Amino acid sequence: MRILLVEDNEKLIALLSDSLRQAGFTVDESVCAEDAYAALDVASYDLVILDLGLPDEDGMDVLKTMRFNRNSVPVLILTARDMLDQKIKGLNAGADDYMTKPFESEELVARVRALMRRPAQSHDIYLRLGRVIYDTVARQAEAGGELVRLSNRETSLLEIMMRASGKIVTKENLEMQLYGYDEEGSANSVEVLVHRLRKKLDQAKADVLIHTLRGIGYMMTDKEHGQAH
Ligand code: CA
Repeated sequence: MRILLVEDNEKLIALLSDSLRQAGFTVDESVCAEDAYAALDVASYDLVILDLGLPDEDGMDVLKTMRFNRNSVPVLILTARDMLDQKIKGLNAGADDYMTKPFESEELVARVRALMRRPAQSHDIYLRLGRVIYDTVARQAEAGGELVRLSNRETSLLEIMMRASGKIVTKENLEMQLYGYDEEGSANSVEVLVHRLRKKLDQAKADVLIHTLRGIGYMMTDKEHGQAH
């Protein structure tokens, strides 16, 4: 479980990182908003701990930008501003929890654990890519307002690929996620499934591409970002 800690106070960074690492989490540290954006761009996190008083940007704007960019990672806000309206603003902007300084690091670790038990996609039940909007609750995909008819397993594949859009998903990983222990899954059946999904998405003019990375796996992008990867 990987956490991004966005905090500019060195003492607090040291204290929190220590407690979180002792609790078994992997922690990356960002000391400003610019740093945080860079980290969010390259890594995927299970949780972001976000200070509101950052040197270059208000943490609330960082949160809004993350949510605007459809990043639905759970966010725990840290702040000295203990006013109620700030808390409400934070929760409305898509924060999952709020802690006001000063606090005990044990309490922070406990809250972190609680947040990680929640489903990560609680903020946005829709995944979007190209013209596809995928409803993770109804498990239905639409392209340009038209329902895309998919089998159960094609739907699972689409969801996995959309969640990882722009990133490589290995064939082994797909095989593991798509087929249970007692089912006949193979690299070949994954290929067939990808082929079928690709065809249906093409027919629906979904404007998304599933790239094949030979010997590695697949990556889904929207058409605009084409073959550039
Ligand atoms: Ca601060």
